[in-house]
Amino acid sequence: MGPLGHFAVGLAAKPATTKVPLGVMLLATVALDILAIAFSLAGIEGPAGTPLPWSHGLFMSVVWSVVAALLTAHIYQSRRAGVVVGLLVFSHWVLDFISHPIPFSSFSWRSWQWVYGHPLPSDLPLPFRGSTKVGLGLYNSMSAVEATALEMAMFIVGATVYAAFILKERKRRRSQST
Ligand SMILES: [Zn+2]
Repeated sequence: MGPLGHFAVGLAAKPATTKVPLGVMLLATVALDILAIAFSLAGIEGPAGTPLPWSHGLFMSVVWSVVAALLTAHIYQSRRAGVVVGLLVFSHWVLDFISHPIPFSSFSWRSWQWVYGHPLPSDLPLPFRGSTKVGLGLYNSMSAVEATALEMAMFIVGATVYAAFILKERKRRRSQST
């Protein structure tokens, strides 16, 4: 899934913890993609379109989520903050599991379309390279326009939840100070 869909989860999760800044929560939702970019630059993974065992394998995704949870809990001195951020990191795998494989290689920025030719094979490895690959393939059966619309809709829902929470907090604080 693209960043908009992932960010939607980060926005919607804001009411779950007030300790962690929104930016950190949004970063957490795309942490696995940031790792994928770093690993591909380092030559450990990639190129894009091939399985990503170190960033997107189920086993390593759990490991990264736990690492993020421990770090966050330590930095913000809050177990709850750690759990929320850990779950946000893992939410990336869940959304990618539903949407992958994504026919990015055939995507055209000009026509905003991807052409499959054939359904793509699943590309999310369970534990490691060479293991069973999974992915429900939602985006295999959707046009790029539909996928974009879906992610925008998710983002709007997430942003609405976030805005409602911020307004409520502001009102609460104002009533406390008067
Ligand atoms: Zn991803």
